[in-house]
Amino acid sequence: MGKKNMQSENIRFFNTLTREKEKFAPIEKGNVRMYTCGPTVYDYIHIGNLRCFLFEDVLKRWLEYRGFQVTQVMNLTDVDDRTIKASRTQGVPIKQHTERFVKAFFEDIDALNIETATYYPKATEHIPEMVALVKKLLEKGYAYRGEDNSVYFAISKFKDYGKLAKIQVNELKAGARVKVDEYAKEEASDFVVWKAWDTDDGDVFWETEIGKGRPGWHIECSAMSMKYLGETFDIHCGGVDNLFPHHENEIAQSEAATGKKFVNYWLHNEHLLVEGKKMAKRLQNYYTLKDLMAKGYDSKAIRYLMMSVHYRQQINFTFDGLEAAKKTLERLTNFVLRSLEADGKSGGDRLTQLIESAQRGFEEAMDDDLNISVALAHLFDFVRDVNNLLNEGMVNKQEGQEIYKLMVKFDKVLGVIGEVKREIKLSKEAEDLIHMREEARKVRDWKSADQIREQLKAMGVVIEDTAEGIRWRIEKQ
Ligand SMILES: [Zn+2]
Repeated sequence: MGKKNMQSENIRFFNTLTREKEKFAPIEKGNVRMYTCGPTVYDYIHIGNLRCFLFEDVLKRWLEYRGFQVTQVMNLTDVDDRTIKASRTQGVPIKQHTERFVKAFFEDIDALNIETATYYPKATEHIPEMVALVKKLLEKGYAYRGEDNSVYFAISKFKDYGKLAKIQVNELKAGARVKVDEYAKEEASDFVVWKAWDTDDGDVFWETEIGKGRPGWHIECSAMSMKYLGETFDIHCGGVDNLFPHHENEIAQSEAATGKKFVNYWLHNEHLLVEGKKMAKRLQNYYTLKDLMAKGYDSKAIRYLMMSVHYRQQINFTFDGLEAAKKTLERLTNFVLRSLEADGKSGGDRLTQLIESAQRGFEEAMDDDLNISVALAHLFDFVRDVNNLLNEGMVNKQEGQEIYKLMVKFDKVLGVIGEVKREIKLSKEAEDLIHMREEARKVRDWKSADQIREQLKAMGVVIEDTAEGIRWRIEKQ
């Protein structure tokens, strides 16, 4: 861990809980514990979900850049209203159905170069923890059993209910109940934490101390986050669409059960629009990552496009934008290659200053609530200015290495450049000659082999015979 990076006291995040930018300080020095609501594995995730996971990835990478150890938990919702409905519609056992989409989820995050979380707990593997939490809520009087035998959380008993979404609970609404996992702010009411089995659940149920049934969606995240991160942890993230009711309910359940503050910093990312409109299957602007890759788009360009806008701003995903992202990445890759190959005179103080100010600008912007658009602007100013120096032959070998190192450092956060190699292709003619030479060597016709070697050399292709076989390189002409 580089000491230089330990400037963690400069990080500020916009906390949804206070609606203010706050200085970030984790509970435990040097360690960050963060929970990120994961996918509901009933279908392929769409690019709106991926925007959220990309924002969380950049957040995690930034904390690591600043020298923190990050423990990240991302749950997999493999039992809820949607997974049950989808598996029953398909006539497939729920486990078989969800496993297919768990696999697809991991393929997607892998393709987008999203770092893996520390834990990926599945809801179905944490039923005892959920039951224990519901029992605690019953004992403390925050939850009660309805006539349908399900257990509900009484929002009127928890005085802070509404503190995240900033809503006042209408007195008249208290006592009204909602059994579905998803509902609107206006429908704030007692919500289900344990759903008693009914016929719509088919064979999806657990026989437990609190009855035959299954957990509500919200209790799943409370139980799994506290299991892996403790009763109070640092950061909880998610899409703005999960702010209410999901996150509001997580706070209510967890704080009612423990009597402690649940989470210190709540970070929410804004929606993704597609070609200016809200994404919807009926508008035919609904895309999964696989849809885009099947159209021939590169996953790195997709990653770049979706993370290049500040997370608290809506992003308008367009195909023009995707083309532009591809060109931008080509520019970055080329820049890195040029730096690696630099062999001119020294750029002197001017170059040193450019390197310093690029790093400072990038870091200050990222510390400021992950202001990635400003960070990227600093990066591209740097690319432009150094390209000018490269054009003038004013970057020497060692400076080229320094530029390269800075770019690698930035890319640890951006994750879009990766390893760069100049793609060198041999001409068909040279390939044929190498092949002919191999044939000649096989029959110990050394004379022909040597002649061909000379012929290749004249074309600028240098051949070496090594123990591992033939190596070739292009010699500068
Ligand atoms: Zn959640």
